[in-house]
Amino acid sequence: MATEFQASLECAAELDAKDGLASFRNDFEFPKTAGGDPFLYFCGNSLGLLPTAARDVVNQELEDWGNLAVEAHFRGKTPWYKYHEVFHENLGELVGGSPREIVVMNSLTVNLHLLMVSFYRPTATRYKIMVESPTFPSDLYAMKTQMRYHGIDPKEALIEVSPRQGEVTLREEDVLKLIHETGDSLALLMFGGINFFTGQWFPFRAFADAAHDVGAYAGFDCAHAAGNVPLDLHANDADFAVWCSYKYLNAGPGATSGAFIHERHATDVSLPRYAGWWGNDPDVRFRMHLEPEFKPVASADAWQLSNPSILAMAPLQASLDLFHRAGMPALRQKSESLTGFLEYLIDSRLSQKLEVLTPRTPSARGCQLSLKLKNDAQGLQKKLQESGVICDFREPDVLRIAPTPLYNSYTDVFQFVQKLEALLP
Ligand SMILES: *Cc1c(COP(=O)(O)O)cnc(C)c1O
Repeated sequence: MATEFQASLECAAELDAKDGLASFRNDFEFPKTAGGDPFLYFCGNSLGLLPTAARDVVNQELEDWGNLAVEAHFRGKTPWYKYHEVFHENLGELVGGSPREIVVMNSLTVNLHLLMVSFYRPTATRYKIMVESPTFPSDLYAMKTQMRYHGIDPKEALIEVSPRQGEVTLREEDVLKLIHETGDSLALLMFGGINFFTGQWFPFRAFADAAHDVGAYAGFDCAHAAGNVPLDLHANDADFAVWCSYKYLNAGPGATSGAFIHERHATDVSLPRYAGWWGNDPDVRFRMHLEPEFKPVASADAWQLSNPSILAMAPLQASLDLFHRAGMPALRQKSESLTGFLEYLIDSRLSQKLEVLTPRTPSARGCQLSLKLKNDAQGLQKKLQESGVICDFREPDVLRIAPTPLYNSYTDVFQFVQKLEALLP
């Protein structure tokens, strides 16, 4: 790939001209600098941009509320009673699950807890959870408090897998070995799909198989993977996965999260879970007090508790429509090339000044590159912002740059590296 690149604006412009997905950029709204120019935006790993069509989708719900009020549950354009069902197909297509395996509900950490209620049921001998380090804090809090809720000390039960001394990413063989060594005491392997800090993409199938070999469940937090890389959750035999919809899925701040539950569990109505009326069989849900016993629907929808926020779900319709039109295979192809271009420019112009922490193999990463700076990464991020670039800083010394194939261009990437080079001592 790298051989077709040159470190020039002409090369970037030529790559943009050949990019079949280039026009999707026009479907998004970019924040503007004080001077009125769009920012170079590389923060889709934190909050994705607004798809313009989301305005109409949200307005439609406001219209239905105004015009129909309670009647919109059944007569709205997308009837609210079944609103979550419209995502089964499109979202399933994006993450590799059948409609029965997909549910849109709550927010991410809530879903992680709800799924651990079903998939972390420790016994006297099988009670450990294995997770990659560094772990996103919310996930860590969720795991530790689940343990304490069961009367288990996280110091004994939580296994955090760290990179080898002197290395920054995990080696597949080390994780597999540790899973086998932990053996019968492992209850749950709970890994990020893509690590939030390093951008490392983990081999789901190998990890899930190893977890299953020792009798454990395999769950993945795909916050940094959903909408970023093709996931094939069912084919990779994940027991469950959760993700948020406001990062690469561009569904807005606090947008309703998603979850995947493998069919072998999703259709098992006897699984222990927390229940609420929205997880009940929809045919009898509105019989209210005439149905005192919870009858879970035989799908991932059974994990829903409450009637959902329509306004927090609506933008996901606009976003998934764009993903469907672009197609994940084409997006992934562009993504590898776009991030490859960023890597090429950094290697050819900035290699003395910073270190790329993210794996160099495209199959072991998504779109993000994590750049370790020699000094004052935070100050640099501020200066970048003043010069028209939005990217994020992570303690202690890392900038995360996420060129997304839906709305970033090769020219964006080139201009970013120009600005970064000018600001580095
Ligand atoms: C973004 C992110 C979260 C955020 O959780 P919310 O419940 O949506 O606030 C949690 N875990 C990971 C791994 C994340 O990347």
